Amino acid sequence: MSEVLNVSEMFGKNVFNDAVMKDRLPKNVYKKLKKTIEDGAELDPSIADVVAHAMKDWAIERGATHYTHWFQPLTGVTAEKHDSFISAPNDGKVIMEFSGKELIKGEPDASSFPSGGLRATFEARGYTVWDCSSPAFLREDAIGVTLCIPTSFCSYKGESLDKKTPLLRSMQAVNEQALRILRLFGNTTAKRVAPSVGAEQEYFLVDREKYLQRKDLIYTGRTLFGAMPPKGQELEDHYFGAIRERIGSYMNDVNKELWKLGVPAKTQHNEVAPAQHELAPIYEGVNQAVDHNQIVMETLKKVAGRHGMACLLHEKPFAGVNGSGKHNNWSLTADDGTNLLNPGDTPHENIQFLLVLACIIKAVDVHADLLRESAADVGNDHRLGANEAPPAIISIFLGEQLEDVIDQLCSTGEATHSKKGGTLKTGVDILPDLDKDATDRNRTSPFAFTGNKFEFRMVGSSDSIASPNAVLNTIVAEAFKEAADKLEKAGDFDMAVHDLIKETLSAHRRIIFNGNGYADEWVVEAEQRGLPNIRSMVDAIPALTTDKAVKLFEEFCVFTRAELESRAEVEYENYSKAINIEARTMYDMASKSIIPAVIKYTTGLAASITAVKSACPDADVSTQTELLLETSDLLSETKTALSRLAEMTEKAAAAEGGKTQALVYHQDVVPAMAALRAPVDQLEMIVDKELWPMPSYGDLIFEV
Ligand code: ADP
Ligand code: MG
Repeated sequence: MSEVLNVSEMFGKNVFNDAVMKDRLPKNVYKKLKKTIEDGAELDPSIADVVAHAMKDWAIERGATHYTHWFQPLTGVTAEKHDSFISAPNDGKVIMEFSGKELIKGEPDASSFPSGGLRATFEARGYTVWDCSSPAFLREDAIGVTLCIPTSFCSYKGESLDKKTPLLRSMQAVNEQALRILRLFGNTTAKRVAPSVGAEQEYFLVDREKYLQRKDLIYTGRTLFGAMPPKGQELEDHYFGAIRERIGSYMNDVNKELWKLGVPAKTQHNEVAPAQHELAPIYEGVNQAVDHNQIVMETLKKVAGRHGMACLLHEKPFAGVNGSGKHNNWSLTADDGTNLLNPGDTPHENIQFLLVLACIIKAVDVHADLLRESAADVGNDHRLGANEAPPAIISIFLGEQLEDVIDQLCSTGEATHSKKGGTLKTGVDILPDLDKDATDRNRTSPFAFTGNKFEFRMVGSSDSIASPNAVLNTIVAEAFKEAADKLEKAGDFDMAVHDLIKETLSAHRRIIFNGNGYADEWVVEAEQRGLPNIRSMVDAIPALTTDKAVKLFEEFCVFTRAELESRAEVEYENYSKAINIEARTMYDMASKSIIPAVIKYTTGLAASITAVKSACPDADVSTQTELLLETSDLLSETKTALSRLAEMTEKAAAAEGGKTQALVYHQDVVPAMAALRAPVDQLEMIVDKELWPMPSYGDLIFEV
């Protein structure tokens, strides 16, 4: 028997959470802090010293030697700088110190983080600012035990240089507007409405030894070459398949780590592709969910190393098999526990729900480009609108029941009934009959209503979920505001809300699509409906700085124009840098290992032909000769493509201006990479496996 896990004892053990604070802080301090955390009240800086002291004692008792302000710069991963708690030695002795000032404010040298021109390099100052709404936690690893304090990161002038600050601002915006909607429906008690988010995380696991033999995986997180093995994912035998020992023991360790950090890891299963898996936590407030998703990604990687594996979070580590995404489940919850997205059993009578739904539909339709942009990252270009679904077109799936209600509303002006799910009958007596959901699922929709939440399925597996949620919160805040502005002035509320729902739905129902989002016909139909189809990251970025976007984000104080422009700039830069690394890695692999291996193979073939011929002049060497010809042709194609890639990469590297440069990488370098990959993948199928310089797809995904 393995050890008995006491999960409830383990859960949150390394978190300075509510229970710890209640226990360790003086009552008045605890109350003040709680008011900030729960009601969003301004933080009283006078309590910082007391909190810092308690936090330090708690951390030191658990072996901590250092603390760090943990933040989320625009790189998409987290950053930290560690300081030990020791004071200046006095008589050779140190004491362990941590002041309120150190808790509240940090000052990392900001000049090494992307700022997209927000901060000139000579203005190096940047501040990290304590976010008390996300609890501090202890990380235990090879460095030791470190107290991690979640923080925002901004410039000397207060401009956001990170992903958290805009998210927090967007939460304020949607809270304020959602409360106006609740008040209109007579709710006078709710004090706060906050987005709830559960992010399902997909990932791949490969053997570490094999991983280390692939420069592409090491440098870029994905394979840049690789032919499909005889077996791919076509048998569909991996999805939800039994979890193998090695993977199971890994998942077990991941869960333990996450539970200690208060991450409510809940579901784990094998995914569609071989070697692909998923982890889903229970949903939480969006700020926590974003921080926790970062912790999940870090933990998945860290624990993989301990198990002799590498975890790949890239959106498309292997061509030809399923890629990885991150389903962002989103809803709005009031502090009294009501979920604003809960339709109840009879949605046609639930006017508040219908208004909320109409507002979300409008928001998604009006700002489809922004939502698409929020899911754009370099790796996701291989999924969205490329080799794989979900498509790059934003549409909403509502399901039969709600679509029917909307049909009734739009055609007759009244919705009189809601379809029911009925009973599931299996035809087996001993199996119980079940109540069916009123609606089936649709796995092809990028934005699907799933019972009491929307599931945004476009987000990439390696990306932070901060941006998609900041966008969602803000666009919905805008739709709520426009509705509340009208309704608060209306004489007859019932009539006005009825008309507004009908009007809004009629105007924006083009975004609703319940069919197969993967079908080619949808692309054509979406175009006829006037829905944007934005196929790549470089095409998506301009959405950030349109007049529409600037007006939206400035109105709700989520981003200033300068902050938006800086983000666009950083994204172009990130794109160019990533493609540049990929192109150079390909060049390196092809010229230093693949071409030499192929030459060795052809030399062997040629020698064999000569040897056979001289031993037996009548022997038929046509097979070897054909192989030699085919290989030599592919080799020469490879060489030509390699030279072209080098040329294009140089051209791109020399291009000036973030956007111009990114476009050259997109339009010239990416196709040149594909042109190099094609002959190499064919060669891999021909050349002796012993000679091929790296593990194959088969080795990587079937032999973990
Ligand atoms: P699925 O619906 O995708 O089959 P689940 O129902 O288990 O799977 O939910 C997937 C994720 O959605 C989980 O992280 C879950 O906690 C989260 N989730 C469930 N309800 C909500 C909600 N009301 N708001 C946000 N996320 C939710
Ligand atoms: Mg899901």
